[in-house]
Amino acid sequence: METVRLGLERTVVGRRVTGVSVTGTRTVRRQSRFELRSRLTGRRIEAARRKGKFLALLLDDSQVLSIHLRMSGQLLHVTEPGKVAKAPHTHVIARLDDGSELRFVDPRTFGEWWVTADVRADGLPAVFDRLGPDPLNDGIPPKLLAARLAGHRSALKAALTDQRVVAGIGNLYADEICWRAAVRPDRRCDDLAPDELRRLSRSTMAVLKAAVEQRGSSLRDARYRDLMGNAGSYQARHEVYDRAGEPCSRCGEPVQKVRFGARTAYCCESCQH
Ligand SMILES: [Zn+2]
Repeated sequence: METVRLGLERTVVGRRVTGVSVTGTRTVRRQSRFELRSRLTGRRIEAARRKGKFLALLLDDSQVLSIHLRMSGQLLHVTEPGKVAKAPHTHVIARLDDGSELRFVDPRTFGEWWVTADVRADGLPAVFDRLGPDPLNDGIPPKLLAARLAGHRSALKAALTDQRVVAGIGNLYADEICWRAAVRPDRRCDDLAPDELRRLSRSTMAVLKAAVEQRGSSLRDARYRDLMGNAGSYQARHEVYDRAGEPCSRCGEPVQKVRFGARTAYCCESCQH
């Protein structure tokens, strides 16, 4: 998501929205399509911010356009709309004053756009308050991570991917973070030792930063792509995710796909404890 935010900063910040088309039936659901269009049209985009998996485009009248990509949403910035056919499942198009378009493509339609005037002093929507700290924005030192996990009896991976606990960690990254920290993803949160929390804190920062540097992972399922539609290259560096049966790069034993509760995770059972 940080990759997408950086792309928005480069392409749409400073531009004015000249028109909005909404064709998806589910993409705009917190308000009517008419309301989204009328709140957005004519506004200049002042900044691109992010909290966890939510994107926030700050508008010149203090409103915010919030976008959540969910499972399959993808934002495309198209500089010459006349030359680029509309992709299937394009649900929203925002036309900008430089002739370009910001298009939202979302085959599974879980993604969402809405414009709100209910914002905090930092300019972000009030609904973002219920999100946990975002490691890339706020850092996640061991004490903060311990505080966020305290009292959770759930499995570590379940907590790491819970946006109310820590914002911005997806399924894939949770597995990579646990591997790097040498901690099993199905460990109970309230059973982690201080040293394990220190390793998880370091791993979280390292994995998320590497992912941003590699422009996000490009998986067919998650459709993480940058705004130009280019696939990222982080997938080449996954240590465990989707690598069941391949040797662990740390100990050489095969990576496992483990199940706990209703979840699954990839990990190395021989060197993650
Ligand atoms: Zn191993």
